[in-house]
Amino acid sequence: MKVLVADDDAVSRLMLQGAVEALGHTCLVAEDGAQAWQLYAETSPDVLITDLLMPGLNGLELCRRVRARSESGYTYIILATGLVERDDVLSGMQAGADDYLSKPLAAFDLEARLIAAERVTSLHAQLSRYRSDLARLACTDPLTQLRNRRSLEDDLSALHARSQRYQRNYCLVMCDVDRFKAYNDTFGHPSGDEVLRAVGATLSTQARHGDSVYRYGGEEFLLILPEQTPPEAAVVGERIRRAVLGLCVAHPGGVDGQLLTISVGVAGFRPGDVTTSDGILAEADQALYAAKASGRNRVAIAP
Ligand code: GH3
Ligand code: MG
Ligand code: MG
Repeated sequence: MKVLVADDDAVSRLMLQGAVEALGHTCLVAEDGAQAWQLYAETSPDVLITDLLMPGLNGLELCRRVRARSESGYTYIILATGLVERDDVLSGMQAGADDYLSKPLAAFDLEARLIAAERVTSLHAQLSRYRSDLARLACTDPLTQLRNRRSLEDDLSALHARSQRYQRNYCLVMCDVDRFKAYNDTFGHPSGDEVLRAVGATLSTQARHGDSVYRYGGEEFLLILPEQTPPEAAVVGERIRRAVLGLCVAHPGGVDGQLLTISVGVAGFRPGDVTTSDGILAEADQALYAAKASGRNRVAIAP
């Protein structure tokens, strides 16, 4: 583990450092609270062993600061306390410390505390991995690995608010696989799934940096194109339509009786528009409907 020792007393500091290193851990040392805080911020140690009384930033304040910083991993805090400071131990625990050690230091006590520290920090690390896995799963579509509809709702409302505030354009490009029910009926659902994966991957490849691709529903996909106007987004839509056609997926029940195609609807937000993000979504959906109604395998722009 990486252990940070903060103590203004040189003898205590050296003893702690020697004992920590003898147990096979890496030891960083700070001569006062301010230096400890700086080292802590730079190195995110697993364990902080801190004196209580130090000039400037004292141990209590250091504990509070470490606990208030939630973005780095969990740091196990041990107060190293002399007899005169015993009354401060409970305050230190309330300020965020996990345990305490009496000075003068007994190597055995330190070893025991560091065993507990290792267990607790590795549990915290495991928890934070689970949490980030869960967060990722919650916004990912399992079939295509694209972002899902829930993620779309969050991203779109944030983009809409930003675009309104800073008077920017953005566009939505809604894509729907043509005659997909017939595809499933002909080739089976698992083959249909393969096609959805391939279409999703194609959309991702065609999207530019800064654009986002979502699986909107069953065989519907949506792209968000920040800063784009509808004519520009229609060019992207057309490129996507061709790319899907270029996959050359045989679809006898499809629009032209040969290959799998998609229809595309484009709608945009322009600075000054008084509409919601749901309003733009509805417009993209209507444009998609128009593309379907006028023959499929084409791009339509919302009026
Ligand atoms: P249109 O050209 O009008 O869009 O016709 P369509 O057949 O594509 O549209 P419809 O809405 O009638 O059918 C959509 C089909 O998509 C039906 C459904 O079984 C299929 N589908 C939806 N989600 C999945 C999926 O995850 N996997 C597979 N294989 N099929 C799906
Ligand atoms: Mg369809
Ligand atoms: Mg559909």
